[in-house]
Amino acid sequence: MSNYKTETKCIQSGYEPGNGEARVLPIYQSTTFRYTSSEQMGRLFDLEESGYFYTRLQNPTNDAVAAKICDLEGGVAAMLTSSGQAANFYAIMNIVEAGDHIVCASALYGGTYNLYAHTIKKMGVEATFVDPECTQEELDAAFQENTKAVFGETIANPALVVLDLEKFANAAHAHGVPFIVDNTFATPINCRPFEWGADIVTHSTTKYMDGHAACVGGAIVDSGNFDWETHKEKFPGLTTPDETYHGIVYTEKFGKGAYITKATAQLMRDLGSIQSPQNAFLLNIGLETLHLRVPRHCENAVKVAEYLKNHEKVAWVRCPSLPGDKYYDLAQKYMPNGTCGVITFGLKGGRDAAVEMMDRLKMVAIVTHVADARSCVLHPASHTHRQMNDKELVEAGVQPDLIRFSVGIENIEDIIADVEQALR
Ligand SMILES: *Cc1c(COP(=O)(O)O)cnc(C)c1O
Repeated sequence: MSNYKTETKCIQSGYEPGNGEARVLPIYQSTTFRYTSSEQMGRLFDLEESGYFYTRLQNPTNDAVAAKICDLEGGVAAMLTSSGQAANFYAIMNIVEAGDHIVCASALYGGTYNLYAHTIKKMGVEATFVDPECTQEELDAAFQENTKAVFGETIANPALVVLDLEKFANAAHAHGVPFIVDNTFATPINCRPFEWGADIVTHSTTKYMDGHAACVGGAIVDSGNFDWETHKEKFPGLTTPDETYHGIVYTEKFGKGAYITKATAQLMRDLGSIQSPQNAFLLNIGLETLHLRVPRHCENAVKVAEYLKNHEKVAWVRCPSLPGDKYYDLAQKYMPNGTCGVITFGLKGGRDAAVEMMDRLKMVAIVTHVADARSCVLHPASHTHRQMNDKELVEAGVQPDLIRFSVGIENIEDIIADVEQALR
C-alpha cells in the first residue's frame, strides 16, 4: 500500500512506467506471453514462479488496475472480474463447498440476492438472510456449524440501507468466519470497510468506479487480515493441499496473498470470468477522476432529495445523508463525507404515478443502470427486481412504488428542472 492520499492514489497507484515506457497504462491486448525456456513456462504452471502466461489467469493491464483498487481500499491483494456478479460469486465460492452455509444481510442488489438465494443453492450452498437491523442475538442465531462467511452491502442497492459494519464484522469474527462487503455504492472515496472490520471487499466497477457507463466489470480485494490458519478446519480449500497444483497449500505458500491467489489460480482458471484488458483500461481512466466525481454525485443527490422532500406530490424520500433519514446516524458514523448519488422516493399517486412521472422525464433517462455521470431512473419492482414476489421485495427493502434515482453530475438546476416539469 502506498502512503499517498486518496486523490493521489486514484491517479498514481497501480502503474509506474520505467524509463522510456508509456506514461499511460498500456492495454496488453494479448492472450499469451512468450517465454524462451520451456522449463520456465512449466514453473509458471506450477505456481513456482510468478509471471504472465495466459490472460484468462492474469494480464498486466488488469493487474495494474486491480492494484490501484487494492491501494484505494487499503488491501494486500486484488483481482478484477468480468462483472460485479462474478466478483460476488467468486468471493463466496473461493471459501465454500457444497454443504456449506453463508449469512447475508437481506437488503441486497437483486442480482446478488438471486445468486445467493437460488443459484448457489443449486450448488449445495445455503444462505440465511437476516434483517440488517437485527439485534446481536438475532444475528448470532443465524450462524450454523457449517457457516463460512458473512456478506452485506455498505449501502444496499436499491434499499439504501446503511449496514452497521462493526456489528456484522464482530458477529462474523466471533464465529470464526470472514466478513465480505460489497462496497459498490460507497466506493473507497466515502468508506473503506477494512477500517471497520471487513475482511474482503467486492465491487461492481460498472458503477461509480468506471463512472461513465462504458464497461461492465468487478473487483475483489483482500485485506489480508483474516487468519485462515486459525480456522483451518473451516477452510480446507485454502489450508490443505491443492492436488491441481501438485499439492501446494495456499496459506503456506502465499501467506496474506492466499485468498486472491486461490481465486485467480483456481476459480479464474476453471470458470474464466476475466475482465477484458480493454475494459480495464477504461476503468482505470474512470478511477482517475473518482475522487472528483463521487463528492459531486453526493452533493447533487442531497439537493434533489431536499427538493423532493418539500414537494407536495412526493410521499417519501430516502437519502442516507439527509438529516431525518432512518440511516442518517449510521451514515454519519461510516460515511461522514457523503454516501452515494443514488436516492429513492415514492409519489402520493403510488406505483402508477411513479411510472407516469418517469415517462415524462426528458433529460433524466430510464435505464437499467446506476452510478454513472448521467442522471437516470429505474422502477425496481418492474425492472431489476421483477423476479421477486412481494414478500421478497419487502425483505430486500424495495417498496412497489419505489423510484430509484441515480443523480448524475450535470448542473443541479437542470436536473431539478427536469424533475419539476415531470412532476407537474
Ligand atoms: C450492479 C451491482 C452488482 C452487480 O454488478 P454487475 O457489474 O452489474 O455484474 C453487484 N452489487 C451491487 C451493489 C451493484 O450495484
